[in-house]
Parts: sequence; structure tokens; C-alpha cells
Amino acid sequence: MLTVQNYVNGLKDNKILGTKCKNCGNIMIPLKPVCSKCGSFDVEEFETKGKGVIRSFTVIYVAPEKFKDKVPYVVAIINLDEGGAIMGRLTGVDPNKPENIKVGTKVKFEALVEGEEVVVVFRVDN
Ligand SMILES: [Zn+2]
Repeated sequence: MLTVQNYVNGLKDNKILGTKCKNCGNIMIPLKPVCSKCGSFDVEEFETKGKGVIRSFTVIYVAPEKFKDKVPYVVAIINLDEGGAIMGRLTGVDPNKPENIKVGTKVKFEALVEGEEVVVVFRVDN
């Protein structure tokens, strides 16, 4: 079943689940029951390898209440190898030296479970 709960459970198991449209090949992250490109319902769930590259990033200095003891930290949009993109926190980088963080750097997904919540984290893949 293509549900949000499935997606979240997948994250806790260190998996990023996506949807692939069987009609046009469109990749959607997270799971979607309908293709966002062609509107087809003929979609299937697949598991990404959790690898990708940094598309863009920003350093967060003012965070939501629950993350306020984590600042500064880096949030990046990751282009996954299979297609599609996902936002996550970046680790293995120095948020005080953003000039050293390069767009196009390879990263790997790892789930960070904080209490009841799962945080999407990408580690720079050296
Ligand atoms: Zn489609």
C-alpha cells in the first residue's frame, strides 16, 4: 500500500521508498498514489538505494522549537540516483564553513530516530 505511514516506517528501517509511474516512468518521492506528471494510477512502490548528490543547501540558524539546540545545521535538497529529490539534514560537514560544502557532492541516507520522530539525514559519502 502506498501510504505515508509506509513511507515513515521505511525511513525508520533506513529505506527511502518512492513511487514509479508505470505509464511515463516519473519518479516521485515520497510515495504518491497518482502520477504527478501524467495523472496515471498505474504506479508502483520501489526502494531507492538512498544515494544521491547535493542539489542545493542552506545553513539553518533559526530552527523550529524542537531543533533549536541543533543550530547551526545544514539542510540540503538531494537529487537521488534513481530520480526524484528529497530534503534532509546534512551531516559530516561543518555548518560553520559552508564554503566547503559543494553542490554535486555524493551523499548517503541514514535515518535518525529522535523520540517518536524520524529525521531524514544525509551523510557526505567519502
Ligand atoms: Zn506518469
